[in-house]
Amino acid sequence: MIALEEKILKEGKVIGSDVLKVGGFLNQRIDVEFLMEMGKEIARLFEGEKITKIFTIESSGIAIAMAAAVYMKVPVVFAKKNKSANVGDDVYTSRVHSFTHGNTYDAVVSKEYLKSGDRILIVDDFLARGNALKGLIDMVNQAGAHLTGAAIAIEKGFQGGGDELRKKGLRVESLALIDSMNGGKIIFRH
Ligand code: 5GP
Repeated sequence: MIALEEKILKEGKVIGSDVLKVGGFLNQRIDVEFLMEMGKEIARLFEGEKITKIFTIESSGIAIAMAAAVYMKVPVVFAKKNKSANVGDDVYTSRVHSFTHGNTYDAVVSKEYLKSGDRILIVDDFLARGNALKGLIDMVNQAGAHLTGAAIAIEKGFQGGGDELRKKGLRVESLALIDSMNGGKIIFRH
């Protein structure tokens, strides 16, 4: 999505060689109109897939998931990063290691929100090594639901997670795919 690439080049900040900050429109301040355009593009890409639910993980995935859900007319379910009292005991859970934050957490979702008859689209803001995505896939599999694919706002291709999952046969669509950020220079893959 060219408009997203342009926005990343204009507003994104590269931290070190592998972290991209896009707090100005995606992660802290939300450019709602722009996110809706991203949501519309996700809906276009997965048109005809008869998706019944979008599945994401708190907190940054929720906004982009909602934007897509508006156009797809389906609910959003999000996994929580730690079990809280209001989740209950009847849950699917998957352990996720976050390299970005340097911690490991148990992603949790109530069993009542993912069902075997569901056709799920996973949506997230970033894809790097793929750990968050693998945790979400694990929970979709535990539910016995059908996974139609994953839609990501920004994939950092050089961290390998997306290509590993594509090789396994998963449809992974990223609205912007970054091949390198060496020296702070962002190069996209097309
Ligand atoms: P992965 O599990 O694929 O390694 O990382 C994906 C998760 O880490 C995303 O849900 C996102 O929250 C966070 N993340 C990874 N890399 C970046 C980055 O460069 N910038 C931001 N803002 N978040 C990132």
